[in-house]
Amino acid sequence: MQVFKFGGASVKDAQAVQNIQVLLSKQNTHETVIVVSAMAKTTNALEEVYKAYLTADPNITEKVLAIKHFHLTIIKDLFEEKNNQLIDDIENVFVELDWILEEDIHEDTAFIYDQIVSLGEILSTKIIAAYLNYKGLACVWVDARGYIQTDNNYQEGNIDWASTELLVQKDFPKLLENKMIITQGFIGGTSENFTTTLGREGSDYSAAIFAACLNASAVTIWKDVDGVLNADPKLFTHTEKFEQLPYSEALEMTYYGATVIHPKTIKPLQNKQIPLFVKPFLNHEGTGTHIGQFEQIKYHLPTIIVKNDQVLMSISSRDFSFISEQNLSFILGVFAKLNVKINTMQNSAMTWSCSFDYHLEKLNKLITELQSDYKVYYNHPVSLVTLRHYHQSTIDEISQGKEVLIEQRSRNTVQLVMR
Ligand code: ASP
Ligand code: MG
Repeated sequence: MQVFKFGGASVKDAQAVQNIQVLLSKQNTHETVIVVSAMAKTTNALEEVYKAYLTADPNITEKVLAIKHFHLTIIKDLFEEKNNQLIDDIENVFVELDWILEEDIHEDTAFIYDQIVSLGEILSTKIIAAYLNYKGLACVWVDARGYIQTDNNYQEGNIDWASTELLVQKDFPKLLENKMIITQGFIGGTSENFTTTLGREGSDYSAAIFAACLNASAVTIWKDVDGVLNADPKLFTHTEKFEQLPYSEALEMTYYGATVIHPKTIKPLQNKQIPLFVKPFLNHEGTGTHIGQFEQIKYHLPTIIVKNDQVLMSISSRDFSFISEQNLSFILGVFAKLNVKINTMQNSAMTWSCSFDYHLEKLNKLITELQSDYKVYYNHPVSLVTLRHYHQSTIDEISQGKEVLIEQRSRNTVQLVMR
């Protein structure tokens, strides 16, 4: 058994869906579970519908119609004759959406978010399953919400591993005997049958969950890059693809903000020693990157991870006293309560500083909660650059012409907050 995952870019239009069909026809797809994300930017478009619903924005109808039109156009481009069954299925998803939008606003907005935003994956998988069957690649559509079981922590459901494993192991092997399974990434369900989502870009994580539950032989994430690179080729001219990468290094990279794989993906695979391949969907013969239990490998170039749009916040006490453990405990408690993930931190006698992703609402709440007891200053936007396996020459190059506000070094890693 193996798991393939296709993200939004790999199913962004009719041509991309055709490419997946060709790709699959060249692979050994015996006992394959295929996990698919929403098409192109559909998740963002559904987030806009969600916001419009909350604010009673009259443009909501237009927004919904645009999403519907986008999917119906792809169907028209894919099928020579009209596929009435599929069109009905798609129309029904929009009927479901209309019902949600007609309801009074539920007090838990994260709950509403999940009911609305999860529909992108339902749409994409309905279309792809129908197209693959039409082209003679037999597959069965499976609703992930009946298998990936989570608690009711909406927008970032926590997996109930025991019941997920039980459900997946009960049904998947039988279904896979003579067909591929097409299912959704990013979404799950609660024990009361409400839909949950696993956090933005969470489809990679779904692939890892299915693989771990099935003790799969491998997971392949098909991407619009050659594999895992040491740096973003949009930002750096000289980049190199890793042929192999230890799980531990992949974990570190995602922790520091590498977006090539969702951070929660690696651990379940490492626990079960399931190899993870990151391969290009446009080059069907590409070897990609193999992530597995390797000894530390040789790093020719430093790995560079850039996080832009950071806030650098400095907090000091109003009475010029030292920042004590009690102060830190209070300050970190505020960050934890507001769910702000700290990317770097540094302490000195008078000031404690940290950087985190910019989010206007959370920033304002942080300031409100902290400023009665502390002086709070911040800079925005600043960049956080993390280098692994660094050389001084790369640090010099990257920081040239920039003002370095924080620099932190350990043996393998250096982090620079700069503007
Ligand atoms: N469609 C979801 C998102 O865009 C999940 C994913 O793409 O992995 O966040
Ligand atoms: Mg995506």
